[in-house]
Amino acid sequence: MSLTDPTFNYQLLAEQIKKHGIELGFQQVGITDTDLTEAENHLNNWLAKKHHGNMDYLAKHGSIRSHPDELHKGTIRVISLRLNYLPAKETFDQVQTDPTAAFISRYALGRDYHKMMRKRLKKLTQFIESKTGVFSHRVFVDSAPVLEKALAEKAGLGWIGKHTNLINREAGSWFFIGEIYIDLPLPTDTAVDEHCGDCTACIDICPTQAIIGPYQLDARRCISYLTIELNDSIPVEFRKAIGNHIYGCDDCQIICPWNKFSTVTTESDFLPRHHLDTATLIELFNWSEEEFLKRLEGSAIRRIGYQKWLRNIAIALGNAPKSAKTKAILVNKLLNTEPMVKEHIQWAIKEQEITN
Ligand code: SF4
Repeated sequence: MSLTDPTFNYQLLAEQIKKHGIELGFQQVGITDTDLTEAENHLNNWLAKKHHGNMDYLAKHGSIRSHPDELHKGTIRVISLRLNYLPAKETFDQVQTDPTAAFISRYALGRDYHKMMRKRLKKLTQFIESKTGVFSHRVFVDSAPVLEKALAEKAGLGWIGKHTNLINREAGSWFFIGEIYIDLPLPTDTAVDEHCGDCTACIDICPTQAIIGPYQLDARRCISYLTIELNDSIPVEFRKAIGNHIYGCDDCQIICPWNKFSTVTTESDFLPRHHLDTATLIELFNWSEEEFLKRLEGSAIRRIGYQKWLRNIAIALGNAPKSAKTKAILVNKLLNTEPMVKEHIQWAIKEQEITN
C-alpha cells in the first residue's frame, strides 16, 4: 500500500500494533505525536541548574532529544511500550533492614534488558511492515537522546511522579520503557491524569534529599547517580546516607503507594542471578575481578567496572555493624586497588573504628 493512501485504516493498524505488542510480551503499548515542548522546557531548566551532574551526554545533543524528527528524519509518531521487571515483591524488607546485606536496584538483579527488548521492538516493526510495506522507523532502548518518560507519559502509559519516574495506576513503576519512532500517521493516545495528589512519601524517604521538590531531581545527590554514573570519588557528605545501597537505589519507588498495584515479571531473564537479591556485602566485596567479570556477564552492573563496584561496597561496609572481620577484609583489599578506591576503603576502615 502507499503511505499516502487516504483509504488505509490507521485506526485498525494501531489496534493491531497494540495487540501484537502484548503478544510479544509487553504489558502496554501507547502511541503519541512528537510535540515535546513542555518536556523540553523542563529539561532545559534542569540542565541550566546543573542538576545532571557529570552526565554531559544529557546536555550534548541540543534540541535532538526533544525533537524526535531531528533524531530520525520523518518521524511523526512514537510507539511507546512498557515491560515489567520486578522479580518478586517480598525481597524488600530483608535487604532493606539488614545492614550486612547488599542492596542492588531491582532492575539490575537479572540480565540486562536492552538486547531482549530491542529484539522484540524489531519484531514489532516487522509486523507493521507486513501490514504497510516498507516504512521509516527506528527502535530505541535507552540508547540515544530520547525523552522516553515524557513520550511514554504522552502515550498514556502513566504519569511522571514527584520522584520523576513514570507511574502507572494499574502497574506501579517497576517497568522498562522502549520506543519506536515511525513515519505513519497513527491515531494517538491520550495522556492520563496525574495521581500523586498530596503525597510526598518519595520526597520524605529519599536518603540523600535528592528530590529537592516535586518533580525536581538533583541527580548529583541521587544514590543511583552516585553509585552508577559518577566515576570519581563519592562525596563524603553522602556516604553515611548511602547505607547498604551498592548499585542504584529504589527507596522512592518502594515507598510509592502506587506500587502496591505492581505485578511481578513473567520474564525469566529478569530473575535474580547469583542470588544478587540476598547476597551479603562481604561476599560481594570478596569477588576477584575475574569473578566480577564472569558472574556479571550479561548484567547491567558489569558496565560500572570492578573498581567502582569495590568503591560502592567499601562505603556500605563502612556503614555496616562494626566487626573485626569486616575491618580485616577492608584492610586486606587495600592492596591492588586504585587510589580512588583506596580512599573509600580507608574511610570505611575509619568508620569501623569509630566508637559510639
Ligand atoms: S511516593 Fe507519592 S508523591 Fe512520590 S511518586 Fe509516588 S504517589 Fe507520587
